[in-house]
This record gives sequence, structure tokens and C-alpha cells, in this order.
Amino acid sequence: MSDLVIAIDGPAGSGKSTVARAVAHALGWSFLDTGAMYRAVTCEALARGVDVADEAAMATVAAHVTLTTLPRVTVDGRDVEDEIRTEPVNLAVSIVAANPLVRQSMVTRQREIAAAQPVGTVVEGRDITTVVFPEATLKVFLTASLDERAARRGEEGVDSVARRDRADSTREASPLRRADDALVLDTTGRNVKDVVEEIVQCLKTRQSN
Ligand code: C5P
Repeated sequence: MSDLVIAIDGPAGSGKSTVARAVAHALGWSFLDTGAMYRAVTCEALARGVDVADEAAMATVAAHVTLTTLPRVTVDGRDVEDEIRTEPVNLAVSIVAANPLVRQSMVTRQREIAAAQPVGTVVEGRDITTVVFPEATLKVFLTASLDERAARRGEEGVDSVARRDRADSTREASPLRRADDALVLDTTGRNVKDVVEEIVQCLKTRQSN
């Protein structure tokens, strides 16, 4: 089992999932999309009719669901891969993610998942470099212009992306922020291959020092 982790944070549409997946592929490491975990818990709450603003009720949902993110996102065995990207989930997920009790339960799971991987794990989200893996082998913060991020998110639209960013950056519990020692990469107008190569190169440099 491995404690090698590349932690990647950034706002919605900054390229985290695409880049993290490709870096994991290039290295033969595992990949963990933590946003999918918050989205899956949100799906389950909406399906059960639980008020997502009810912190105690949401903590119970988060603590008791069985979650997978690969090969498909499932919650208690139900495939929610498509449902997690729908409008009701986009609207509710930042409320769920601001709940410190839900976060506690997700962070514990994220650390357990990474620790169980055979080689290393590329983990992406909002608090991965600052809270979940502050001692990661490499920390990366991805950014991109709001227009480009909204274009990448397609149907979600610029207003929803901007609203989620605001909520994620200003919440009290583990807000999105740059770790001081993160490699900061602006992906605006850059292709994925380039960004992936820069991250892999940086990892090799860190590991050889
Ligand atoms: O990455 P994605 O856009 O799918 O994340 C959905 C939401 O999950 C974010 O807007 C944020 O509220 C929450 N999130 C979080 N912490 C993470 C990953 C995602 O708060 N580590």
C-alpha cells in the first residue's frame, strides 16, 4: 500500500478531473474524484427527500452510505454517474459540502481510499492540498478564466459555476484556497497533454531531490 499522493485543487472547470485522470494514467497510479463523492451524497439526500440544509440529517446520510467512484459513481449500489451532473445536484452540492460533519466523513473515506491503493493516487477536489493531504508528494492548484471554465462545464452555465466558486471559496469549513507550496498552473488555452507533462516533470524533480 502506498502513501504517494498528488493533490490537485482548483475551482469548477479548471481542468482538475481531466488533468488528474491523465496524470494518474501516465504514472500508472489510481485516481480519486472527491467532487463525485460530495455529489453522490447530495444525490442520495435528494432521492430520500432529506433537507440538504439540515446538518444533522445530512451527517447521518454521509456517514451511512456506501460510495464508489470507479468504475462508476454509485451510492448504496445505485448508479448515479449521470444524475450527479444534473441541475438539482449542481444547486445543492455546495450546501452539502459546506457542512463540516459531511466533510469529516468524506475526508476520512478519502484518506482510507488513497492509503489502500497499490502505487500512488492522484486526488482532486477543493481541500485536498490544504486539509486532506497537506503532506502530499506534490500539490497543484489549477486555475482558468471564468469564461473558459464555464465553457468546459457546458450546460451548467457561467452563473452556476460562478455561484459554486463563490460558495466554495467563502465557506467556513475547508474553503477552496491555494496552498502556499502548491504548483500553480493556469490552464486557460493550454492543452491537457502539456499540463500533464508539466505535473509529471515536477513530480520527478521533487522525488529526485
Ligand atoms: O469538482 P466538482 O465540481 O464535481 O465538485 C462539486 C462540489 O463538491 C464543489 O462545488 C464543492 O462544493 C464540493 N467539493 C468540496 N470539496 C472537495 C470536492 C468537491 O467541497 N474536495
